[in-house]
Amino acid sequence: MSLHEIDPDEELASEVLRPGDDEYDDAARVFAGTGRPALVVRPRSPVEVAEAVAYGVRHELPVSVRSGGHSVLGHGTNVDGLVIDLARLDAVEVLDTDRRLVRVGGGARWGAVAAALDPYDWGLTSGDTTSVGVGGLTLGGGIGWMVRRHGLAVDNLVGARVVTADGRLVTASAHEHPDLFWALRGGGGNFGVVVDFDFVAQPVGGVHVGRAVYRPDDPADLLLRWRYAMRRAPDELSSTLVLMPELPGSPPAATVLLCYAGEPGASVTEADAAIEPLLELGTVLEATVAERRYAEVLEDAHHPPGVRVIGRNILAPTLSADLAQAIARLHRSPVPAAVAVRSLGGAFGRVPAQATAFAHRDAEALVVCGFMVPADLADASVEPMLAPWREVAMHGTGTYLNFQGSATPEDLAAAYPPATYERLAAVKAAYDPGNVFALNHNIEPRRRGSAGASASPSGWGRPGDAR
Ligand SMILES: Cc1cc2nc3c(=O)[nH]c(=O)nc-3n(C[C@H](O)[C@H](O)[C@H](O)COP(=O)(O)OP(=O)(O)OC[C@H]3O[C@@H](n4cnc5c(N)ncnc54)[C@H](O)[C@@H]3O)c2cc1C
Repeated sequence: MSLHEIDPDEELASEVLRPGDDEYDDAARVFAGTGRPALVVRPRSPVEVAEAVAYGVRHELPVSVRSGGHSVLGHGTNVDGLVIDLARLDAVEVLDTDRRLVRVGGGARWGAVAAALDPYDWGLTSGDTTSVGVGGLTLGGGIGWMVRRHGLAVDNLVGARVVTADGRLVTASAHEHPDLFWALRGGGGNFGVVVDFDFVAQPVGGVHVGRAVYRPDDPADLLLRWRYAMRRAPDELSSTLVLMPELPGSPPAATVLLCYAGEPGASVTEADAAIEPLLELGTVLEATVAERRYAEVLEDAHHPPGVRVIGRNILAPTLSADLAQAIARLHRSPVPAAVAVRSLGGAFGRVPAQATAFAHRDAEALVVCGFMVPADLADASVEPMLAPWREVAMHGTGTYLNFQGSATPEDLAAAYPPATYERLAAVKAAYDPGNVFALNHNIEPRRRGSAGASASPSGWGRPGDAR
């Protein structure tokens, strides 16, 4: 059915916003920009979610599912389609104190989750931004300040309730729909609408957070010293080295960010001993370390004014000297590029590659680059400006789709090794054969063993290949 045939009076129990309604413009906008959907619905229950999905299917509308609205590609909105905005499904409920079992609504945001768990001295390993949604971050993996201590967000997920494309509400866990449960842990929003997630929270007391600003004379050398320190660091310590380019009014900068997350009551001496090597990597211009509640560590997100940020990333098995040199050259590239190198390993690396749909567990580092291009640059001109990235990309064996500012078959193949992709495509065929949930890093439904099923989208995925 085409759009003009939609009956605007057709009943939906959810709150519905259409063009012209007071709150519509806000509801059409997400972090990455704005869209013009035919309607935005805000369900308050699984039944209303199922009703919204059925509406989208009946009218053959493109369907966006939105949690925190921070998809870097703006997948949480669309033009002429349906947006299922889960903002009303944002409760955080402790189900079992002894097991630290927490149920989090599919539209909750991480700042609210951290605040709700704080009184229990608990935390959930997630991202580093308050406004990012639990839905998108979790389904893609979820890398944050406790990644080396407690792994990805998905590594602490024990169940999820999902409204599927045919309107069923199913529970996915190790015991029920285990194939779906596996796919939800890294396969993105391909399989249905997750109305809530069950996590096991971790005991987290005060964390020690800090930053050391270094003289950025030799970023490659700094990176290698940082790598040396992080290879010897305890799991409690996670860190990111950020290289900022020269920008109007600010010189280039090299900053080491760190977070030490011990058990509640852990000694300050242990934290200090772990952190110290990160404060001695070169000439320090400024350094601060303080003990804070984990809930205070997450920060708000801001768009840099007047620029469009294009994100690319790799998961690198080794932060080699060659990769460090390539990153240093990228830091000096004519197109301003901010580079953040996140340390992995620890608990992240101890999860077997096949256990979840996030397979690249051997990565030592996640290298994320944000190219800052003029906001009005035409799309066709963007790709040539990213040429300096290629030299870095060739050192990656994977990519983290949640940070990837493109959604090509090559990106999917980089994220999912062939066996992972084949399994995801089979789960997609079982739960969303009509590809209702397509506005995402899309996995095409395909039965196992069907033609072409053994290959990942472009055959990419061999160590050393580049994007
Ligand atoms: C400023 C900023 C900071 C970030 N920081 C981090 C970080 O520290 N660590 C990290 O790992 N990532 C981070 N990210 C990346 C982030 O994980 C992704 O952008 C993620 O998709 C955002 O989730 P969201 O729910 O806010 O986005 P949305 O746009 O709401 O959702 C993204 C996609 O996820 C799917 N989806 C969302 N909720 C559901 C649901 N309940 N059921 C089914 N499908 C759903 C949909 O396909 C949707 O298109 C950051 C992004 C930004 C913009």
